[in-house]
Amino acid sequence: MLKFNSLVFIFITLISSCTMSTTNNTQMITPVSDVHSFAKPEEAVITHIHLNLEVNFEKHILEGFARINFKNITGTSHLTLDTRDLDISKITQGEEEQETTFSFGENNPLLGKALTIDVEKNTSVVTVYYKTSPTAAALMWLTAEQTAGKQFPFMFSQSQAILARTWVPCQDGPGVKFTYSADITCPHSLMALMSAENDTLLHKDGTYHFNMPQPVSSYLMALAVGDVRFHSLGINTGVYAEPVMMERSIYEFDDMQKMVNAASALYGEYAWGRYDVIVLPPSFPFGGMENPRLTFATPTIIAGDRSLVALVAHELAHSWSGNLVTNATWNDFWLNEGFTMYFENRIMEKLYGRDYADMLDELGFNELQETVKELGETSIDTHLFLSLKDRDPDDGMNEIAYIKGQFFLKTVESVVGREKMDVFVKKYFTEHAFQSMTTEKFIAYFNENLIQGDTAISNKIQLEKWIYGPGIPANTFRVKSTLLEKASTQAKDFLAGTLAKDLDTKGWSTHEWLHFLRNLPEGLTKAQIAELDKKFHFTPSGNCEILCDWFQHTIASNYLPAEAQLEIFLLNVGRRKFIVPLYKSLVKTAEGKAFAQKVYTYARPGYHSVAQQTIDELVN
Ligand SMILES: [Zn+2]
Repeated sequence: MLKFNSLVFIFITLISSCTMSTTNNTQMITPVSDVHSFAKPEEAVITHIHLNLEVNFEKHILEGFARINFKNITGTSHLTLDTRDLDISKITQGEEEQETTFSFGENNPLLGKALTIDVEKNTSVVTVYYKTSPTAAALMWLTAEQTAGKQFPFMFSQSQAILARTWVPCQDGPGVKFTYSADITCPHSLMALMSAENDTLLHKDGTYHFNMPQPVSSYLMALAVGDVRFHSLGINTGVYAEPVMMERSIYEFDDMQKMVNAASALYGEYAWGRYDVIVLPPSFPFGGMENPRLTFATPTIIAGDRSLVALVAHELAHSWSGNLVTNATWNDFWLNEGFTMYFENRIMEKLYGRDYADMLDELGFNELQETVKELGETSIDTHLFLSLKDRDPDDGMNEIAYIKGQFFLKTVESVVGREKMDVFVKKYFTEHAFQSMTTEKFIAYFNENLIQGDTAISNKIQLEKWIYGPGIPANTFRVKSTLLEKASTQAKDFLAGTLAKDLDTKGWSTHEWLHFLRNLPEGLTKAQIAELDKKFHFTPSGNCEILCDWFQHTIASNYLPAEAQLEIFLLNVGRRKFIVPLYKSLVKTAEGKAFAQKVYTYARPGYHSVAQQTIDELVN
């Protein structure tokens, strides 16, 4: 067994980036009840948070204070915030910092504890002195060995969905928006970055100041600290990465400025100044996180051939859908992700053509079908509007919100026509910029601005069925990709006896390879697997997307020559999209389960808490 911290991190890459701005300080107060927050923004709502935190890599904590400005709406004598595992030593009120009293509500393992601060009615600022827990769920602390450069430790946050409260006392629901600023102190020689204006330079004294002048929801607050550098990619785009990863990152993200330009041309001016990307270490649990001005990205998209940059288009699209117009609660998550998937595909189409975009769409649709099958065709979890009360919002982060949401919008486009659709979407973003959106409010806006009383159109779309009904509606607009069709033909030919060396795979991108692998049935013979591996070198591939699908075959056929690579993969990659399906397949057999448990013992410390939670349930 390979030990976790002695491994070579073959998949590692780091990029980081940040910055820019435009201003709009509208504070939105959304009187929407949020089942995942204890806060009472309808009584007193946060308008600005200033953080002053020291990043302590020895203790794995952040320590300092949060100065919170708020608006007392009802004349209440309490400010209620969300917290989870925060160690609070003192709270003061007013500019003079007069100490005040506070109390905690009962602890809920998922939601944490309400923090109720006693305030005088004319007070509009409190300062909370605190430190985070070494096990704060939002924060990931990596050793030097877990980075690409292997010389310096690294830390990053992942606040979505309800983890901001584990590092900042705040009103932790997406319906509350506030501006923020921060003074961060970190070890010399490391760079600190936030989802805010960054100046792109390394500060030798380890002190950094940040400002986020536009209001954002708490889940968009983000911090990363590590040995990263900046490289400009265009007028307002750039990449942050560990020095050893920089060259590959620059190559991979070459089209980023074009993407920003294409997106702005579609739906209106980019509102956040700069758009930069930071490439994180491989334990980052998601593909990307749309932290405003500074997308956090997994190194698993650095394929060497720019074939996985749709992820950047996705995170960039969130600069409109999600960051600008935000789902009011996590039940409305499809408004963030459905719009973003639709928008992502439009960016890809503009840059790489319709055939390429269709290929991505069809692959996505196939994944949606799998998810619906898994959840059950009549399950309420397949409704676009979710019911997540008493549940982790992570339960709703699947293909339903993303791809069913996207195909709802594609279906609408097919009914009303692209021209009308584009006018509607642009208007929707413009008129609701820096606000939050409920599903109900969206439906009213949709009916008023797009349907406009036209019952023929309304009947064709069947909006209610999409949003409050299960499964994939019969009127779904279907995409047929000619490129994928060629790939599935090659899979058929191989199954019919054509040798691997005679298959026509010239010029295939990652996506054709994925489709090819997905069109081969589970349970190939060991000889078939060996033949494919010999010809196409799947097992030693550095492309995580391809590896993930390939390992599904090697696991199902118990193909032992791939086991060592599978182990390395599971020990090094923490992206949930890849590791969850692999663990799921492994635990199907007693042998596989034993292997999974053995590897997981070593791999677990390298995974983020959101990945650990999912996999704990699977392997135990
Ligand atoms: Zn997204």
